[in-house]
Amino acid sequence: MLKKQLRFIGIAILLISAFAAQLANQPSQAAGFLRVVALDIGQGDAILITTPDDEQILVDGGPSGDVVGKILHYTYGKKLDLVVATHNDADHIGGLPAVVNSFKVNQVWINGAIHTTHTYESWLATLKENQVSAKAVKAGESLRLGQVELEVLYPTKDYVGVRPELNNDATIVIRLTYGATSFLLTGDLEQEGEEELIRDNPTKLGSTVLKVSHHGSGNSSAREFLDYVHPELALISVGEGNRYGHPAQEVIDRLEQLDIESHRTDKEGDLVVFSDGAKVWFED
Ligand SMILES: [Zn+2]
Repeated sequence: MLKKQLRFIGIAILLISAFAAQLANQPSQAAGFLRVVALDIGQGDAILITTPDDEQILVDGGPSGDVVGKILHYTYGKKLDLVVATHNDADHIGGLPAVVNSFKVNQVWINGAIHTTHTYESWLATLKENQVSAKAVKAGESLRLGQVELEVLYPTKDYVGVRPELNNDATIVIRLTYGATSFLLTGDLEQEGEEELIRDNPTKLGSTVLKVSHHGSGNSSAREFLDYVHPELALISVGEGNRYGHPAQEVIDRLEQLDIESHRTDKEGDLVVFSDGAKVWFED
């Protein structure tokens, strides 16, 4: 009898330590906070947002299906309340077909612009196969998810059925607000778009956290734009040794001169920021 009890205790200890080890490998929980993660998916963008009420939003899906495993590292349920494709470049929509095949996706936002690549066609086909309808959005669109508000600030132009000369010009820009804190997600916006934003929304740009435009490209993040946004924290999603030379040294210097704390996925991996509605903090 005693032998049996001892064996039982032994097994229980084993199970508890296995569980504890598993917990130690898990990323910190959103636990009632807003959590925004710039996923380290190489050269591209994939921003995973978990609201304080546990709703999940994905803004872009990076270049490949590898993003699915990255998302699963942070979420237990296989549900995404909103998926946004900011524009049709492969480093933003390449992973989205795998996302739609792997998760139950409630809503999809697109800019409505058309493109000719296989990646773009496969993205549209996957939406159709999964019977997920996509809504073309532009400036003025907004969505409240519990305590979090999403507002589309750009583009003002209607891109439905249009093939833009430069896909980046049609990038969806979103401002996410939670209490007194806000996140500006700028996709691959270029300087002309930044100027348009300043002209149209000068009072709405100020944000606590900035997802730096276009992987830190020198054609974006003009000094004037950074002055308007005036963030505490800047996140740069960029692939190590990418062939575009992103991020540009001048952008890194500009952020430094303005005393903006910046982090980059190529050097630090996933970038995790929390907000309690009053302040934000970066998880080291
Ligand atoms: Zn890009």
